[in-house]
Amino acid sequence: MNLKDYILNVENFPIDGVGFKDVTPLLNDAKAFEFAINQMAEFVIKTKADVIVAPEARGFLFASAVAYATKKRFVLIRKPGKLPRQVISVKYDLEYGTNILELHKNDIKPSDKVVIVDDVLATGGTTEAIIELVEKEQGIIAGISFLIDLESLHQKELFKQYPLQKILKY
Ligand code: AMP
Repeated sequence: MNLKDYILNVENFPIDGVGFKDVTPLLNDAKAFEFAINQMAEFVIKTKADVIVAPEARGFLFASAVAYATKKRFVLIRKPGKLPRQVISVKYDLEYGTNILELHKNDIKPSDKVVIVDDVLATGGTTEAIIELVEKEQGIIAGISFLIDLESLHQKELFKQYPLQKILKY
């Protein structure tokens, strides 16, 4: 199965100049979704992680299925003001402006082995912020899994110090 058949490129969305990778056709095909989740699950099992973390919103779709398939814990990374209990926050730079991501305090225990799951790697800013949040809680990054890598948007060596899965490269 070629999973690229289930990813649509939408030009100039959400703003001019961006080629948006639409993963909804993959979710809308049970076999393609199963195929993608099975590959991510295989990687997660190899990392021997205790817990999966993922950012909203599309990261949740893949990570919760992988957590269920691998019987791992699942911890949410969210935009500010969405998590109801005490949080730790990280601010990071975007091309224009800044963004904040949050994690519930004590969701990650010291020495927890953590795998990050997300749909798309673009600049890597989101993943860098998640690494910072996990390390603030003394978790250990055991691996990072992306469905899609947009190779032209970041340096080649980015995150090479971690076990890394990139299922589809563009
Ligand atoms: P970045 O922090 O630049 O690596 O961006 C990664 C996050 O933004 C991921 O959580 C993606 O869901 C989303 N994202 C960035 N660029 C795209 C794109 N071209 N198509 C779809 N999602 C994207």
